[in-house]
Amino acid sequence: MMKSLTAGAVALTLSATVMSCSDKTEEKPFDYTVDRFADIEVLRYQVHGFEDLTLNQKLLIYYLTEAAITGRDMLWDQNGKYNLALRNLLEDIYTNYNGDKNDENWKGFETYMKQVWFANGIHHHYSMDKFTPAFSREWMEAQIANLKDAPSAEEVSTLLTVVFDPQFMAKRVNQAEGADLILTSANNLYEGVTQKEVEDYYNALKDTTDLTPVSWGLNTRVTKDENGNIVEQVYKVGGLYSNAITRIVELLNKASEYAENDAQRDVIAKLVDFYTTGSLKAFDDYSIAWADETSSQVDFINGFIESYGDPLGMTGAYESIVNFKDIPASQRTETISGNAQWFEDNSPVDKRFKKENVKGVTAKVITAAILAGDAYPATPIGINLPNANWIRAAHGSKSVTIENITKAYDEASHGNGFNEEFVIDEPTRELLENYLFVTDNLHTDLHECLGHASGRLLPGVDPDALKAHGSTLEEARADLFALYYLADPKLLELGLLDNPDAYKAEYYKYILNGLMTQLMRIEYGKDVEEAHMRNRKLISEWVYEKGKPENVIEYVVRDGKTYIQINDYNRLRELFGELLGEIQRIKSEGDYAAGAALVEKYAVKVDPKIHKEVLDRYSTLNIAPYRGFVNPVYTLVKDNDGNITDVTVSFNEDYVEQMLRYSKQYNTLSK
Ligand code: ZN
Repeated sequence: MMKSLTAGAVALTLSATVMSCSDKTEEKPFDYTVDRFADIEVLRYQVHGFEDLTLNQKLLIYYLTEAAITGRDMLWDQNGKYNLALRNLLEDIYTNYNGDKNDENWKGFETYMKQVWFANGIHHHYSMDKFTPAFSREWMEAQIANLKDAPSAEEVSTLLTVVFDPQFMAKRVNQAEGADLILTSANNLYEGVTQKEVEDYYNALKDTTDLTPVSWGLNTRVTKDENGNIVEQVYKVGGLYSNAITRIVELLNKASEYAENDAQRDVIAKLVDFYTTGSLKAFDDYSIAWADETSSQVDFINGFIESYGDPLGMTGAYESIVNFKDIPASQRTETISGNAQWFEDNSPVDKRFKKENVKGVTAKVITAAILAGDAYPATPIGINLPNANWIRAAHGSKSVTIENITKAYDEASHGNGFNEEFVIDEPTRELLENYLFVTDNLHTDLHECLGHASGRLLPGVDPDALKAHGSTLEEARADLFALYYLADPKLLELGLLDNPDAYKAEYYKYILNGLMTQLMRIEYGKDVEEAHMRNRKLISEWVYEKGKPENVIEYVVRDGKTYIQINDYNRLRELFGELLGEIQRIKSEGDYAAGAALVEKYAVKVDPKIHKEVLDRYSTLNIAPYRGFVNPVYTLVKDNDGNITDVTVSFNEDYVEQMLRYSKQYNTLSK
């Protein structure tokens, strides 16, 4: 499961002056911004601490990052069957063009090219809608006519339809009920089969009594053979995507030579086994070994992981992230997990709903070394894997915060005008400048390590009793646990914060976001639907209303603009505690009616006046709603005898350069 923080807009511009000590050694400030087009901003991230790793660790990372990027073409093909052919054609036009760069068609084409690269295909990575070209078909035909090595007329004709016919392959993943979800989704995970045929096929395979079920369909494309029977084309060596996977296996084997220990070598061997056999059992064996392996500093995910790209939620999109543990930052999460029982015992929750023996989830803070496949260029800030529920129950999961990514978001937001526009006054802005990055990360840690793990159900209560409102209320419970404790002196005692007022930064941001600024991600006139957004609105609106008699939170209007002012932070903390107690009660007792009433009253409906104001004010800032990253470049250093003496990392590559290089260097499936 991915934490999709930034899928949408910049939740708030945090800006960090408080940062890790390695910053001091840098002479000139790191340039985070790389490119800006359409609704996208491309950034770069730093890889602090890479130089301090051993040569073996660096080489392990080097080969794992090569394996990661090598899977790129698989994702492009999973996202749509014409994506690779179209990418070739577009890149040919792009690199051969020597006309006027101020021409409107060229500018439209350049934006389209950049959008397609960013989305790993022709559909927007978040909305799933097909991109609309801002250049003419005639212009593109003229460019194709100039190419030395153009595709056949038939292929060109198909690709032109792909680009210019808005009805053709309009949406990558269709989730709207009523239609055949497979036939109306343009992804390339199914071909020539209906939703019903696929469901019948898998229902016949599934054994509902199996307590350790494999993830059916995870690594296959479903189609029919010549006799009309449903068949799965398996992604494996010798199967579908064989060229890419064979190369990945070679690189994984190479990486294995530098593994930190036998357990990690075993993880790599099991992944190789999965890629070689395509066996889903092998994938589970790999996932278990991976979840159990916690001693290495370097870690990675690589495989077919998240299934958001499949309307039936079965097939995993190719993804890889290579990373290493940020040891000082991880002490923070270890301290929190190590004190889990104290937090549980002291929470403002009825004793009957507390766990007598709570075990905090072990989470670590990591530094990403490479983002690839479905995690590139748009990327999550946190990951909690594996996805299979029975493995999570039996072996636990690994939860990570990718802090060099959150830091890059944070730093790149500095000076984008958001705080000046929405934060009420200079002292509050200063508070955010100084403490938001720290308290935001701490909030995430408390939410992940303790919040979700706290509390218990009364005997006999169905864990699914809250039904459709379950995830909103669960997120609210975890957020409230974190908010309540952020203001606790215990955090100062544990050395996690150094200022008793620091928590106010997170409180202010949270309320501002929940009452106002998160609405920037919602189209005017629509309700709040996404669970995390509902949760933030529920909490913020509830404490606003309950605090009204004492004027805890106030809307202040100045020069026609609405601002949030918090008058009583102590009382706000108590209100967070009261709501935590109530939501824990709802969960522990399975009180669906009370949960539904909370969600319906506070979390869904948007005040149109404030919504419009937020959208208008936001539109005056040039803040991209979506952001992503280019990767650093790793290079082997060799001595005169050809021995590898080091691996260096550089951050100079720009967006277009990287995309064109990847298409050339990691071209495994096209042409
Ligand atoms: Zn959560």
